[in-house]
Amino acid sequence: MSTDASSSKRRPLVTGVAGLAMVVLAIGLAVVGNILAFEQVRSVTTRLMTEATARAGQVAATANEQFPQRLASALRMVADHVRRRPNKTWEPPPRFPAWIDKLYVWNGTELRDLGAAGQENPAIASVVRNQVLAGPLEISAVAFTASPQIDFARADGEELVIAQLGSTDVDLNPMVVVAAISQARIEADFLRPLVSADDALQLAVTGADPDNGNHLDVPNSGSQNLAGALRIWAIQPAKAFVDDQRRTVLTQTLVYVGLTTVALGTLLLAMWFLTRVVRREVALAELKSGFVADVSHELKTPLALIRMFAETLRDGRVASDEKRQEYYEVILRESTRLTDLIHNILDFSRIEAGRKEYHLQTTDVAAAVEQTYATYRPQLEHAGFEHELRVESGLPSVDADRGAIAQILVNLITNAVKYSDDEKYVLIEVTSDTRRNRRGVLISVHDLGIGIAPEDRAMLTEGFYRASDSRVRGKAGAGLGLAVVRHIVDAHGGSLDVESRLVKGSTFRVFLPATPEPVTSEDKTDGANTDR
Ligand code: ADP
Repeated sequence: MSTDASSSKRRPLVTGVAGLAMVVLAIGLAVVGNILAFEQVRSVTTRLMTEATARAGQVAATANEQFPQRLASALRMVADHVRRRPNKTWEPPPRFPAWIDKLYVWNGTELRDLGAAGQENPAIASVVRNQVLAGPLEISAVAFTASPQIDFARADGEELVIAQLGSTDVDLNPMVVVAAISQARIEADFLRPLVSADDALQLAVTGADPDNGNHLDVPNSGSQNLAGALRIWAIQPAKAFVDDQRRTVLTQTLVYVGLTTVALGTLLLAMWFLTRVVRREVALAELKSGFVADVSHELKTPLALIRMFAETLRDGRVASDEKRQEYYEVILRESTRLTDLIHNILDFSRIEAGRKEYHLQTTDVAAAVEQTYATYRPQLEHAGFEHELRVESGLPSVDADRGAIAQILVNLITNAVKYSDDEKYVLIEVTSDTRRNRRGVLISVHDLGIGIAPEDRAMLTEGFYRASDSRVRGKAGAGLGLAVVRHIVDAHGGSLDVESRLVKGSTFRVFLPATPEPVTSEDKTDGANTDR
């Protein structure tokens, strides 16, 4: 027995710990899931970045490889053109390479100007002529190789690449083709088209960062008389692409964290809700078990009294008529109490089983209340209560079950008597109620008793509920009366309100809606007139 009891006591604790462990597990899993998801996003974006950097390297390598080749083939095309003119007119080629700014041919004695692409830039021409070609070119020094010799110069803020390719003229005399190309053109006509094919890449002019593997690395053949340097271009992942990746990581992180927070919040809310429901169910189960004890006590006491007084009367042991009358009263009062209790129990069980039926008919509520009041008057007086019934005249009739109305009043009056201490006063009022666009009858039962604590009010109409106040527990009761009252009120489409202050007393108000007035043809006409 004792083992069972202690294990049943431990069960809620074990369940609580298990529930807590589950919440902790859920939070842990959510956090781990979050970290994994975040890592996943991070690794994907890192991979994309690495791939973009690798592609940038490939494009730079292609550029480095292609630039001298394209330069050489353009210069060779010019040399071929010049060589094919036997009269040495050395006219500019018909297809002037678009990205070469200025062309010259040097044959060892003479420097021929082959013109410029589009509008001639005098600054470029003058720099090439005065600085680059000022000293007689050592033709022998120019290697007759497949690759051009490349130098740099600056003209009027313009950075130039000077490319020289050694060749021979038609008589097999040595000849040098010299081209000046502005670096802006290299950038616009050669590099940009290479880079723009890939959205993730961008071309940047970086001061000087030869360590960056992705720069365009045009070899400077190092001529002594040329100054200047090549611009350093870097091909790298585009800023927009990098920003995009960063934004993706951030957005995904926020989405994951947000969703997890909402999920955890919902979980905690559900836990809280469940705990509430479970607590309520446990409380109800306790109330039900208390009910058996209460009811047994409630039945035993009046039965014992009835039996005792009946036996005394039967044995003729009562001398005076007055005493006899008093005993009859006790028997009557106690049997009424028993009847009331049994009514409540039977009604409550019918309500619980969904079998409770009401027979609604047009009822004069005032008359029903007056009748019940008259029945309970002697009880009130015997208990030493000052009592009053106020009934307003001209009350609307109500569609109600007369017996159920009596039951409402019996329960409210009995409670007022039970839960009053020294201030013994009960006021019953029956008034018409037209507040808040409603029309009906209000039955109020007011006492100056012990009152109800605010925390108990919400539960009062739950079956088996009794306030934890010791003064309530001291009185017999099953906690069913108000549950039955609320059911009756609901079934009549009415409402039940309680106003109460501890020690000051309570007022229970039952509103029952009036019988709807039949709509006569006259009313209809009136309505139509009003509408207009
Ligand atoms: P019972 O009276 O048998 O306990 P009820 O359903 O009639 O059951 O009432 C439920 C609880 O509401 C009571 O136990 C008591 O705590 C409280 N209560 C009801 N009426 C009053 C009242 N007039 N004054 C103070 N408390 C009341």
